[in-house]
Amino acid sequence: MSARSDPPRLRNDCFALPPGVAWTPVEEALAALRARCACVAGEETVPLAAAAGRILAAPVAALRPNPPRANSAVDGWAFAQTSLTGADPERLVRRPGRAAPGADGPDVPAGAALRILTGAALPAGADTVVLDEDVGLTTDEVRLRPGLRLGANVRPAGEDAAAGDALLEAGRILSPGDLALAAAGGHAALPVRRRLRVAVLSTGDELADPPPSADAGPGPGAPAQAVMDANRPMLAALSSAWGFETLDLGRVEDRRDAVTEALDRGARLADAILTSGGASAGDEDHVSAALAEAGALGQWRIAMKPGRPLALGVWNGAAVFGLPGNPVAAFVCALVFARPALLALAGAGWREPAARRVPAAFAKRRKRGRREYLRARLTPQGAAEVFPSEGSGRISGLAWATGLVELPDDGPDVTPGDPVRWLPFSAFGLSGSGAI
Ligand code: AMP
Ligand code: MG
Repeated sequence: MSARSDPPRLRNDCFALPPGVAWTPVEEALAALRARCACVAGEETVPLAAAAGRILAAPVAALRPNPPRANSAVDGWAFAQTSLTGADPERLVRRPGRAAPGADGPDVPAGAALRILTGAALPAGADTVVLDEDVGLTTDEVRLRPGLRLGANVRPAGEDAAAGDALLEAGRILSPGDLALAAAGGHAALPVRRRLRVAVLSTGDELADPPPSADAGPGPGAPAQAVMDANRPMLAALSSAWGFETLDLGRVEDRRDAVTEALDRGARLADAILTSGGASAGDEDHVSAALAEAGALGQWRIAMKPGRPLALGVWNGAAVFGLPGNPVAAFVCALVFARPALLALAGAGWREPAARRVPAAFAKRRKRGRREYLRARLTPQGAAEVFPSEGSGRISGLAWATGLVELPDDGPDVTPGDPVRWLPFSAFGLSGSGAI
């Protein structure tokens, strides 16, 4: 089950944006990313039992028809429809024996009927089945009303799929239903993409990991004033939820050599690196500085809130998503930009979330020229309410929300009852997220 050789990695300058672009609208940024992200994951073959959630690497066709033979959809009596005469009642000779699933019955001569169970192959001579409830039985006769059509209560061979029919297209994220279809089509194993490896890194002198236990106190690694590293567990959980193999690169200080060493490590181990913090153009923004020095940076100033600075680069072949440090901005940018790009790198193709329109349960004045994502959830009436604070550091809003409201770049002010775009977290591939 070793992975076949991977497609080429990304070119260093692949995320460079045309010069002179000041604020890139979200749609333009997404289109640019989409054009740059191709699959980098090779193929491997896995048994069906291990294939759920994996990305299908090649189209799958049926190796055999499903069902393999015509069979009965009900418990009843099988006969040849030409045996019917139009008399009321129709009278057929009761044939001894029966047909059961996995145990074929005897032939059915003209004018006779044979007991048949649901799922049993139709015996030779029979093409129609009458339901148990619709017959009258004597010791030697089966009686029924006239008028049953040819093929009634029969599932024809290949009704679901004929041998050679296309079943599943490449790029699908395999669902339980997909696995049932592949098994019915005769497949014991499927070609899938090797899992994309995604490494997660936090940057910032002010950060520390939470102490291992409440009794441990702040400890030397976690001085009382330290900001707890909230992004790393969050981004790692997102990566895992999206089906990627997630690696923890830890946390580094705001020093160029520490950042470059971590990026080197990430590029050796992973296909993509999600960093947070240090992505702007300031003195301590060492992620963007390191990428810029390597000539591999696209400093994307995106016209959206929360978010803005997104440092996209390629480091020794690994795609680097330099997300903002603010947890809310990091989260939203990961959902909006990193997810579709990572799925494209992984071989699932570009995927954007499906939105639904719901009435707003809030009012909001808009600033033109930027898209906004608000932490939101639905009221019992199905309207979108938003978290009271838009502060990008208000992590509690991430736990409170069950989705995002997306307000268009140049949309009008919102008043209660206006339709707004609702993007539940499930539309971003996150099941069971948020309050219930
Ligand atoms: P930066 O983008 O590095 O300027 O960080 C912006 C803000 O986000 C600062 O207040 C940081 O302390 C905060 N921040 C950065 N990284 C993290 C993190 N991993 N967890 C929590 N807060 C962070
Ligand atoms: Mg920082």
